[in-house]
Amino acid sequence: MENKESEDRKILEEFERSFEVLTIRDEAQIERELRKGPRYLRFSPIIEKAFLNYYLTKYIWQIRLAVLLGVIMYAAFGLLDFYVFPEKKEVMWTIRYAIVCPLGIAFFLLTYKIREEWLIHTLHTLLVVIAGLGIIVMIAVAPPEKAFLYYAGLMLVVFYAYTLSALRFYYALFASLMVTVLYPIVDHMLVGTSLDRLITNMFFLTSANLMGMPVSYLWEHHIRRDFLLAMLLALEKKKTDQLNRKLRDISYIDGLTGVANRLKFEEYFRREWDRAKRTKRPISLLMIDIDFFKNYNDLLGHLEGDACLKRIAQALSRHLRAGMDLVARYGGEEFVVVLPETDLSQAKKVADRIREDVLRLNIPHPASKVSDRVTVSIGVASMVPRDSLKKEVLINMADKALYAAKKGGRNRVEVFTFSEEPA
Ligand code: GH3
Ligand code: MG
Ligand code: MG
Repeated sequence: MENKESEDRKILEEFERSFEVLTIRDEAQIERELRKGPRYLRFSPIIEKAFLNYYLTKYIWQIRLAVLLGVIMYAAFGLLDFYVFPEKKEVMWTIRYAIVCPLGIAFFLLTYKIREEWLIHTLHTLLVVIAGLGIIVMIAVAPPEKAFLYYAGLMLVVFYAYTLSALRFYYALFASLMVTVLYPIVDHMLVGTSLDRLITNMFFLTSANLMGMPVSYLWEHHIRRDFLLAMLLALEKKKTDQLNRKLRDISYIDGLTGVANRLKFEEYFRREWDRAKRTKRPISLLMIDIDFFKNYNDLLGHLEGDACLKRIAQALSRHLRAGMDLVARYGGEEFVVVLPETDLSQAKKVADRIREDVLRLNIPHPASKVSDRVTVSIGVASMVPRDSLKKEVLINMADKALYAAKKGGRNRVEVFTFSEEPA
């Protein structure tokens, strides 16, 4: 049961891989192939490659089943040999049990090893021709008055090639025509059956071919159409997935500064807060606010103000550990930094570095009361979340610390301590 499930999963994965051969760039090509119709049972190279992948994954089970059934039938006819031609059964049984059936079983096993579609089809075709040749030889060694009894076996081989085998059309056609052509040649060489019997047999054999051919052709034709439609659907889905991802990314970015926006902060902070709660590890927040920014805008204009915001956002981004920390624009000229796995003293160090870095940007601020350059005030808060606490508590703490920094003279870092916690 479990084995079957893992086998199914493997098949599904391979199936998906055949889609991966194609990219959205191939979509126009697929649409063209669809309009044209798979008349010649051949696509342009890239699509053909994906198709063969798809075909093998989808029909390998049918190929295996066909070979098993074929081998069983080929072996079972040994009973007929015994009943009809006991005097020749050694030759018949040698062909059946020493040549054709072992080759069939070997091919069956090889289908678990070989991954190349063309090789599986070529070997399968060869097997069909050998099975047909075996019957042709049996017809030849049988006593002439009874040889026609085995002739129907050749038609079975032709039917097998066109239907059950899941051989693609050109392979099935080749195998069947080989059997059809080899029959009169070998027969002529080995025994020289009477002309009217040969002609009659060829009529039947040719008719079997004419009936099998359209079945096999249409079968592959339909499969190829199905494949194109399935591909289009898969690519369409790929496209919408990409678009959705892009839209989501855009909805998380602050348009002016390019850092994460408030929405992203809320989601990220919630996730990290919950994680910290689970793992009982510290998490820290920095609340960063530009000093006297209203004055800056009033004096230099909003465009200058915007440019300044961008530069500060970039400066903040430089202090992040990739894939771990997050800087977001909290609103107006305020930023927030989330520092998971970080205790208070480490967070304070990050805040100090950020404050110094902003100072080092050397953006002139003619309207600041604390410096001639643009400065920031930062509030730092940290905790190991307890189950009873809401995440807003940490935001409030960082806010309080920021307020203290402002009150204490700006251009400074303040750390939240519990003595400041309001009653
Ligand atoms: P403090 O040192 O106390 O923080 O003083 P402040 O002037 O920075 O604080 P206040 O909150 O009074 O003013 C914030 C200003 O930030 C108001 C507004 O002019 C400016 N601001 C907010 N968002 C933007 C923005 O997107 N672009 C620009 N250019 N300015 C903004
Ligand atoms: Mg503010
Ligand atoms: Mg401010």
